[in-house]
Amino acid sequence: MAHDVSYSISINRDACTKCGLCVKFCPTEVYEFEDGPQVMHPEWCWGCETCSGNCPVDAIAIEVNPDALASEDDRPRAKLIDSETAALYKEWSDTLREVLQLRWHPVGVRLIRAGEPYPEGVQIPKERMRYCQSMMAARRGVSLLMPANRHSCPDGTSILGLTEVPPKLASGEIYILFHKLDTQEAASRMVNERPMLEPYSMDATCVFPLDDAKATVDVVSVMGNPEQMMWLSMATSYYTGHRHDFHASGYNSHCVEVTLLPMRDKQINISFGCYGGRASSDVGDDMMMMGIPVELMPDVVRGVHELSKRVIPQERDKIYLPPLRG
Ligand code: SF4
Ligand code: SF4
Repeated sequence: MAHDVSYSISINRDACTKCGLCVKFCPTEVYEFEDGPQVMHPEWCWGCETCSGNCPVDAIAIEVNPDALASEDDRPRAKLIDSETAALYKEWSDTLREVLQLRWHPVGVRLIRAGEPYPEGVQIPKERMRYCQSMMAARRGVSLLMPANRHSCPDGTSILGLTEVPPKLASGEIYILFHKLDTQEAASRMVNERPMLEPYSMDATCVFPLDDAKATVDVVSVMGNPEQMMWLSMATSYYTGHRHDFHASGYNSHCVEVTLLPMRDKQINISFGCYGGRASSDVGDDMMMMGIPVELMPDVVRGVHELSKRVIPQERDKIYLPPLRG
């Protein structure tokens, strides 16, 4: 489980009450408890701040070692998209934004396979962040490339194949500690029912506004309100008539529900968001999201365009509202 990022973990021993919560909550087993928490494996620390967040007396400080973040910046870069495809993506993005009146950019997601060069023109953030936070940045127009050592969420990082799965996540134990699931059986089921990529099969995640694509995409993620999601759903059915078997849970929204599931199943999928994604990003209470596999994008965009000719404006005009009498 070792990786090349190091964090300095300091514990204020005067404040520490030796409650052991940090040891219990750390998903990567950095600590052992021996007369208080002892930092036994600092090289396993992801900087997720779960330990400090759960310390009742605020006794833990996690600080990034800046040297450790420099290692990926020299990796070779390459052009991972041609200008024709980039123009097509921009057309898709413009149509969706204009017709649906999306507040933010649709986001292009490209997982960088092991050994692939990194795309040109995308910054690697200096600070670590969660995958859902990188999606938030991309919705707002910022492209980000994140190898494992820039990811701070153990769930997203391992689910997306950048690392191994930490033991407390693999067993589901951490979800019970957080009171997100009732029993070990339920926790194991939740973990086993979600897709996960092979550890180390991906080298980085890359997200960008679809109208300024930095690579060909696996999936397009769209954030919007339920009405906007409805049109995307209808547009996907426009040429086939098929209904959708959406797979949503409230767990692992950005990484599983709008990235891996659409990638794997080649079907659209919705998400209501998840605890981590909502707690650490700008996902509004009235917002939800959809992941669209790139293979379906031409039909989805054409479908949206067709719906815009009549039914979208009619619905927005509320043409079937009954007369309201006093
Ligand atoms: S920051 Fe996260 S990984 Fe690091 S010691 Fe704390 S809980 Fe463990
Ligand atoms: S959670 Fe805080 S108070 Fe409890 S053992 Fe850890 S450092 Fe000490």
